[in-house]
Amino acid sequence: MTQPSAIEPPRLTDRLEALLTGVQGPVQYIGGEVNAQVKDWQAAAGERVHWVLAFPDAYAVGQPNLGLAMLYEILNEREDALAERAYAPWPDMEQAMRRAGLPWFTLDAHRPVNRFDLLGVSLSTELGYSNLLTCLDLAGIGLHQADRPDSAPLVIVGGHAAFNPEPLADFIDGAVLGDGEEVVGRITDVTRDWRAAGRPGGRDGLLWELAHRDLLYVPSLYQVSYDPVSHQITQVAPSGSVAGRGLPVPTKQTVQDLDRWQYPKAPLVPFAETVHERLSVEIFRGCTRGCRFCQAGFITRPVRERSPETIAQMARRGLAATGFDEVGLLSLSSADHTGIGRIAKNLADEYQGTQVGLSLPSTRVDAFNVTLAEELLRGGRRPGLTFAPEGGSERMRRVINKQVTEADLLDTVATAFGHGWRSVKLYFMCGLPTEEEADVTQIATLAQAVIRRGREVTGSRDIRCTISIGPFVPKAHTSFQWAAQAPAEVVDARLAALRAAILADRPTARAITLRAAPGRPAQLEGLLARGDRRVGAVIERAWRGGARFDGWREHLKLDVWEAAARSVLEPQGLSQEWYTQRERGWDEVLPWDHFETGLDRDWLWDDWEAAKDGGGVEDCRWAGCYDCGVCTTLGTAIQIGVG
Ligand code: SF4
Repeated sequence: MTQPSAIEPPRLTDRLEALLTGVQGPVQYIGGEVNAQVKDWQAAAGERVHWVLAFPDAYAVGQPNLGLAMLYEILNEREDALAERAYAPWPDMEQAMRRAGLPWFTLDAHRPVNRFDLLGVSLSTELGYSNLLTCLDLAGIGLHQADRPDSAPLVIVGGHAAFNPEPLADFIDGAVLGDGEEVVGRITDVTRDWRAAGRPGGRDGLLWELAHRDLLYVPSLYQVSYDPVSHQITQVAPSGSVAGRGLPVPTKQTVQDLDRWQYPKAPLVPFAETVHERLSVEIFRGCTRGCRFCQAGFITRPVRERSPETIAQMARRGLAATGFDEVGLLSLSSADHTGIGRIAKNLADEYQGTQVGLSLPSTRVDAFNVTLAEELLRGGRRPGLTFAPEGGSERMRRVINKQVTEADLLDTVATAFGHGWRSVKLYFMCGLPTEEEADVTQIATLAQAVIRRGREVTGSRDIRCTISIGPFVPKAHTSFQWAAQAPAEVVDARLAALRAAILADRPTARAITLRAAPGRPAQLEGLLARGDRRVGAVIERAWRGGARFDGWREHLKLDVWEAAARSVLEPQGLSQEWYTQRERGWDEVLPWDHFETGLDRDWLWDDWEAAKDGGGVEDCRWAGCYDCGVCTTLGTAIQIGVG
C-alpha cells in the first residue's frame, strides 16, 4: 500500500492567493520570511518524516515563539525530516477558507496539514484551546481523536499548557511534557522506523510505540473513573497492555545541558508585525525561587544555565543571520543568571557604537543592580523596566513565597531612577489565597512610595509608575494547585478598592496608572487549567458556539463559554465553580496526578500548608537542596556558573 505521506501533496498557493485580497493582514499567511525553510517533500536518500509545527494563535503571537523556532531548526537539520509552520487563521480568514473549501495549510510551502505525519502544537496558554479545534476542523483531520482516519497526522501538544492536557483528551493523540529538543528527534526516529516496517498496527500501533517508550502521553490509553457522589476522580489508569507490555508513567522530558542545544541559530525574521521583533536568546531555563503560584517555575525545574560564552556566540550568530537590532536575554528571571553581569558586559562591549541594544524582558526586583543598569544603557537605549512583586503586602508576599520586601523594591527603583529611568512598571496579582482587601489596597501604598522615592532621587516630578494587575489562577503542578480561586466579584471589588486608594492620594494619583484585568475571564482560564476530561465537551460546545481567539479581549465570548459550561456540566452535577472555586483536599485525585514531573506531591502539599502560615522556602541554587523531588526523580541537577 502507498503510504499517505509518501506522495507529495499539492501546494495550495494559488487557492490561497485568491483569498488574500479579501482578508485583513494578508501578509501573515504568505510565509517566505528570511530564514524560512522549504525542503523537498522527500530526500534523495528516502522518505522524510513530515512535521507541522503549529501555534494556535495568530502569526503575530506565534511567530516569535522560541520553542517552535528551535524545533523548526532541529528537525529541518535532519536529512530524514521536514518541518513546516502553521498558525491559526483569524476569523475572517477562517470564514474565507470555509467558503472556498481551502484546508488548513502550512505557512512555508502552503501544503495541506492533513498530509503530514505529525502535527506538533505548542500550547502556551489554555486560552488557545478553541483555536486548536478550529485548526483541526479546518485541516479536515477530525475533531475527535477516536474518529481520526489512519492517514491523519498524529496531533501532539506540548508547551506549558500541555502539563494538564486532560481537557483536550478527546481532541489530541498525545502530549509531550517538558523540553522538546531531544524528544522530537526520538519521535521522528520511531515514526520513521514504524513506517519502514510497514506501519504495524496503523496509527494506534505508532501511538502505542511512542507511549510505551515514554515519548508521548497518549490519553486514549488511559481510563478515568469518577465517584458518582462527590464527582471527584477516583482513578486514572492505563486501559490495558499490548503484547504483554505495559505503559510507563508519563514523565517530563528535561534537557540537562543547554549549551549542547544552541537553537535557534538562524531565527526567522517576520514580514508581518509581531509582538516581539528582536533576537531572543534563552540564557537559562528553570527557576527555583519557589514562587508558589508560578507554574512555569515548578514545571521547568531545575535551573540550567547557558554559559556566557555560548550566549555571546548565539547572539553574534543570530544577529548576523537576521539583522535584528535588539537582543532579548530570555528566561523566567533573567537577572538571576549567575553570570548576568559578565553576559551584559560582554554584549555591551561587543556592540558598543552599533545600533544593537540589550533588553532583559523579565527581571526580579532583588536581582537588578547598578552594574546591570549601566550595561543595559550602553546600548544607547533605555529599555522599559518591569518588576513583579506580585503581592501588595509583605504578608501576601510571604504567602506566595515572593521574598521581596518593600525596602528591596524601593532601593531597586531608586537605583533605576538614579540611572535616568523615569518610569517603572510593577506587576501584581489579585485574588491570591488568603488575600484580603487590605493586601490589595497596599499596592497603592507601595506605588505611592515608589513615586515619592523617585521624586526624591531625581528632584523631578516627572516620575511615573504603572501598576499592572492580573487575576490569580491556580495551576496544576504548583503548591497552589489545591487552592480555591477567588470569585470574579471578589476580584473586581478589590480592584475597585485599589483604584479608590490610588485616587485618594492626590499628590501621587496622576503619576500612577492602573491597568487591571477584570475577574471574569480568569474564571474561564481557571476552568481550563484545572479541568479534567469532562471539560472537553465544554470546549467543544463553546467552539461550536463561536468561541475563537479567547486570549484576545475583543474576541473573547464569555457568555458563550459560560452557557457552554452550564449546559454541559450541570446535568452531571458539576459547574464551572466546582472546578474553579473549590479548595481540594490532600486525598483528592487531581486530573494531572498520573504525570511525573519529578515534584514530590507531599512536598508540594507541605509547601501549600506552609503558605497558609506564611512560611518561606529559600532558592535551592543558593541555600542548598530541600528535595522537592525533581532532581532525585528525574536524574537532573542544577547547572549554574558554567563556562
Ligand atoms: S531537587 Fe533540590 S536541587 Fe533539584 S530543584 Fe528540587 S530543591 Fe532544587
